[in-house]
Amino acid sequence: MYLLYNSYPERAAKWRSLLTTQLPDLTFIESMDGVDPSEVQYILTWEPLANLERFTSLRIVFSAGAGVDQFDVSSFPAGVALVRMVEGSIAESMAEYVVFAVLAIHRDMVAYRADQQREEWLPSRIVPASERRVGVMGVGHLGRAALIKLQSFGFQLSGWNRSAKQVDGVKVFSGADSLSDFLSQCDVLVNLLPLTEQTRGILGRPLFDQLPRGAGIVNVGRGGHLNEADLLEALDRGQLGAAILDVFEVEPLDAEDPLWSHPRVWVTPHIASTMQLEGGAAVIVDSIQRDRSGHPLLHTVDRCTGY
Ligand code: NDP
Repeated sequence: MYLLYNSYPERAAKWRSLLTTQLPDLTFIESMDGVDPSEVQYILTWEPLANLERFTSLRIVFSAGAGVDQFDVSSFPAGVALVRMVEGSIAESMAEYVVFAVLAIHRDMVAYRADQQREEWLPSRIVPASERRVGVMGVGHLGRAALIKLQSFGFQLSGWNRSAKQVDGVKVFSGADSLSDFLSQCDVLVNLLPLTEQTRGILGRPLFDQLPRGAGIVNVGRGGHLNEADLLEALDRGQLGAAILDVFEVEPLDAEDPLWSHPRVWVTPHIASTMQLEGGAAVIVDSIQRDRSGHPLLHTVDRCTGY
């Protein structure tokens, strides 16, 4: 049983140790040199691999990160599944980041940081958390964890999702028709949607204009969700008050990008959340055991929706 590893070389030894300890008959390979492609049953990769058809015994491709938008699963050979890493530590660190970003916007920290750089002392009124409306787009694995973590602060919480979801203490809007109603009551908007054909560019002018004036946004989904020109324009005319951005269309963010120096923008280098290898290995081991015993796989990516 071969697993082909195609991700960061510096992490290979740790992956090898974690996986072969739990699956002693697994042969962990980092290159195809001298290997017959028909021996490979599992692939762990961040980048999509070309010509998957040559791996005639392939069963599962594991995404080495949380997102899967880099893969076109609809083109995978029949019978080959794409499994994504759904494990506790990704949700835990994402929830922490969302709490940090929502609190920063709620307590006007983005503005205070800009004031400090200009050496200006400009206190503003504290808005009680109970008056602050925080909305999360995408009430999936991560969106739900973020909403639950936000609950202790007493915000008015809401979510927006394709299908109906239930989260205690959260008003969840579902379906495209409810987007306007959802947006009109978000003082802080957090994006945790997957990047798909339907969601690409969703953070653009039409959406910004439906938010209350001065709203803040947090983008922790993907850079492709954001129309950067529209964001800058909305910040400059005051429709948006602040933006905290962790993901970008081009990463690392270009040295010339105006987001770096915009006084109302905080940039972080795609660090909101990363998978711990131990948790990722548990997903892989469980999936391989399920595959071998004929049980249905968990966390597979849908061939139609792409997430
Ligand atoms: P999930 O697949 O668990 O959740 C996605 C949610 O979005 C689902 O509830 C889904 O609804 C909803 N959704 C999808 N499309 C639409 C749509 N068109 N309209 C409304 N709702 C929609 O994903 P995760 O929560 O695990 O991850 C979300 C994203 O977070 C990832 O795709 C990735 O891009 C990003 N991410 C970012 C990281 C970072 O460090 N910045 C780290 C990890 C992930 P339904 O269930 O009804 O289909």
